[in-house]
Amino acid sequence: MNRARADAFSQLGNRTFDLLIIGGGATGCGIARDAALRGFSVALVEKDDLASGTSSKSSKLIHGGLRYLEHAQFKLVFEGTNERALLLKRAPHLVRPLPFLVPAYKESRPGLLKLDVGLWIYDGLSRFSSYKLHKTYRGRKVHEIEPLLRTEALKGGIVYYDCMTDDARLTLESALDARALGAQILNYTRVISLTRDGDRVVGAEVEDRESGSRSSVRARVVVNSTGPWSDKVRGLVGETAILRPTKGVHLVLDSARLDIQHAVVMMGRRDHRVVFAIPWGDRTVLGTTDTDFDGDLDHVYATAADVDYLMETANHYFPTAKLVAGDVLSTWAGLRPLVAPNKASASESDTSREHHVIERPGFITIAGGKLTTFRRMAAEVVDRAGEQLGRVPPSGTAERPFPGAVDVAGDEGMDRIRAQLGARGLSQRTAHHLAQTYGARAAKVAERAANDHSAGAPLDGETPYLAAEVDEAVEHELARTVGDVLSRRVPLLLRGRDQGLAASVTVAARMGKLLEWDEARRKLEVERYAAIVEESRRFKK
Ligand SMILES: Cc1cc2nc3c(=O)[nH]c(=O)nc-3n(C[C@H](O)[C@H](O)[C@H](O)COP(=O)(O)OP(=O)(O)OC[C@H]3O[C@@H](n4cnc5c(N)ncnc54)[C@H](O)[C@@H]3O)c2cc1C
Repeated sequence: MNRARADAFSQLGNRTFDLLIIGGGATGCGIARDAALRGFSVALVEKDDLASGTSSKSSKLIHGGLRYLEHAQFKLVFEGTNERALLLKRAPHLVRPLPFLVPAYKESRPGLLKLDVGLWIYDGLSRFSSYKLHKTYRGRKVHEIEPLLRTEALKGGIVYYDCMTDDARLTLESALDARALGAQILNYTRVISLTRDGDRVVGAEVEDRESGSRSSVRARVVVNSTGPWSDKVRGLVGETAILRPTKGVHLVLDSARLDIQHAVVMMGRRDHRVVFAIPWGDRTVLGTTDTDFDGDLDHVYATAADVDYLMETANHYFPTAKLVAGDVLSTWAGLRPLVAPNKASASESDTSREHHVIERPGFITIAGGKLTTFRRMAAEVVDRAGEQLGRVPPSGTAERPFPGAVDVAGDEGMDRIRAQLGARGLSQRTAHHLAQTYGARAAKVAERAANDHSAGAPLDGETPYLAAEVDEAVEHELARTVGDVLSRRVPLLLRGRDQGLAASVTVAARMGKLLEWDEARRKLEVERYAAIVEESRRFKK
């Protein structure tokens, strides 16, 4: 395993790639997949783990963005809802419909009538491709479908459908597909400088963060898809800063503390921003905040003020829950790589969510945008790169299933996978979990679990994760550290009651066998993981 990675790194310097992509988030991995599918030679380098930046810190919604209608951003909603329909088809294991409830109170703006009109526009812009059309409830009926909601002055509510995903896995599957199509994908490989020939960018100097080795990579086009880090990479060739990053925080609670059936759309108590309470299996997620950020891009965490803001809003809508900071099991925080508005006066929430592509010879920066539209954004960037390369074959990603969706058509396909896993003797819960996580690849993970007793064991007492998934993460999903596994492949960091601290020892032992770690390295991995957990708990200090 270590040799394969060392070989891949040493090969980076042996040829000139059509595209060198910097950044392995949703955007970069989407670009790698699209470009490889069009027959371009591709290398992608990521300084950390795939999806370790914003692409594992989102609200995990695949949505048109109902609130963008308020600013008449019809194009954004049209693109979002249409991508939602497409991803639902091409990645049904990772993208699932989720009902949203917008409660309307006497003081709510917009009121029920205006909301209803807005949702007809929302459904219309999606070309009526929503899982179900929206439905209006009047009076106390809303309370029947979501009993914990505050009843005082409740006038009604509307239920509509968007989708929920696993952002880190969606990103990972793009990378795995790109790799299967011939792209070189290297995580823990950082760009330290860009190479120029006159005004043209012709490659980059990269560093393997594991061995410290360096290599010069030549490329006809270099793509900067580094999200919140975009300005740092642009600065390497003297380009101006374009970003206004904002921080968004999410809190994870035990669903027993706030048991909801719909994603409830709330208005922030202090600023009237949209905040969600989202059901997430046996957890409930509250998020998000939106505040300007000028700290260390590599260390973004929830503060006590972030927790207060979200708790205050949730307690207003769900007064009987009486939530307190002690109910928070875990947090995640990320940066929106938003492009700065021209108007200095625009608020954080008003800053455009649209993506921007900025080009110069041999160098393309893409920043902003959404997880939902990453496939579309990627296609646009590869078109632009193709123009520089002298050929623009059509993008094929709209038709291509993600790796876990090969031969899996919609709900029926998913039911078949679950039934096949059940027939192997797996419990309903495990079968459901493996099907939703790996789709068509679930049988392979189940096989690992069946072939080795220890691999079939659960990683902790409460969640359905299996030890076999650790092996799959290392051998097939490019995981290099305990943090990679427990944060993004088997996310006990977010879902585990102890955030995976106990399991980290087992994970280090399993990874150590496969990656030939000595005892000191295993210990170091467990310590580093504890530091990640600690950072997510800093709001307690
Ligand atoms: C709080 C929050 C909630 C959100 N919710 C949603 C949502 O529900 N739905 C939605 O559609 N969108 C949502 N978004 C937006 C969405 O998450 C982002 O638009 C998307 O993930 C950005 O992906 P990216 O690939 O551009 O950036 P990133 O995921 O940050 O990837 C950039 C990568 O570049 C790497 N990198 C940086 N410098 C270097 C270097 N020198 N060399 C090599 N690699 C480097 C970084 O390590 C990083 O992994 C949300 C964003 C936030 C912050």
